[in-house]
Amino acid sequence: MPVIASVPAIDELIAAGSPVAIGVSGGKDSQAAALATVAHLDRIGHAGPRLLIHSDLGIVEWSDSHPMCDKLADHIGIDLVVVRRKAGGLMERWESRWESSRVRYETLSTVTLVPCWSTPDMRFCTSEMKTHIIVAELHRRFKGQTVINVTGIRRQESRKRAMATVATRQKDGRMWDWRPIIDWTVDEVFAEIDRHGLHPHPAYRGFGMSRVSCRFCIMSNLADIAAAAAQPEAHDLYRRMVGLESTSSFGFQGARWLGDIAPHLLDAGALQRFADGKIKALHRIAAEARIAPGMLYVKGWPTRMLTDAEADILAETRSRITNLFGFSSACLDRASIHHRYSELLAEHERRAA
Ligand code: SF4
Repeated sequence: MPVIASVPAIDELIAAGSPVAIGVSGGKDSQAAALATVAHLDRIGHAGPRLLIHSDLGIVEWSDSHPMCDKLADHIGIDLVVVRRKAGGLMERWESRWESSRVRYETLSTVTLVPCWSTPDMRFCTSEMKTHIIVAELHRRFKGQTVINVTGIRRQESRKRAMATVATRQKDGRMWDWRPIIDWTVDEVFAEIDRHGLHPHPAYRGFGMSRVSCRFCIMSNLADIAAAAAQPEAHDLYRRMVGLESTSSFGFQGARWLGDIAPHLLDAGALQRFADGKIKALHRIAAEARIAPGMLYVKGWPTRMLTDAEADILAETRSRITNLFGFSSACLDRASIHHRYSELLAEHERRAA
């Protein structure tokens, strides 16, 4: 087995019997990390509690992901804890974000329409749907203890991950993130799974995916998106996601639209709505291009009053977008826009005070 990366702080916590929680997704890296970590803990005599923890994101996940986590827990002989967001899975989160974007637009609480999808720079799908929920559960279970939170992150996966450290203490000081297989290669990961007589998620060898995560991930490459769309179990989700692209006018990966990947899965009505959505996107982008950076809010607040000319531009833009999307927007003329900016500036000042 390749080397398990560690640091003295992690070794001390293990020696003291701190709880170890291993995050699992059903994918190969977390599978190998769980197998290797538990073997390491046994070898060095860790006596504290251990568990696997999985955040269930709902219908965006492959049908095999949860069963893979169950099988892994059975093989290792430790409990699997499954957590989920009370308000629904990731698809529901993307849909509700579009709904809130519409309401914020109508009330001029945002100057431009906000995309519904998470992006590589704004991964609320990971932070809200996985990290926060898992951390809250571990704090609840292990009150007053320092928990070691294990992930299967590897440096080979991306340029950003190449910069990752072996272990990091979280800001609240009550948890350490530990990445024991950080230097493993992909071959070493598969070899570890094979060595235990287990199988990796069928999506790798059966569906031809290079990564197993959400069926359609904001960071998937084109080949993985096409491979996912070819799987019958992903078709209902595919249509729902294309529906959201059509309604919102935002492509799932910005310039890459899911609706272009497998249009044969869409009926005539869905195809028409998708074509309309892409046209709406062009009109939206053209309309919002007239908004100068200084007119935008920063962290949700205006930074200054608009000039009359700017307020007129914003009124025209808002009228065009409101008609395009069938919104019921307020603040469609110069006076009401000035009023809204002054109201928000005063509110921001009041809160700051
Ligand atoms: S797998 Fe992709 S889409 Fe799913 S939560 Fe992670 S980053 Fe977001």
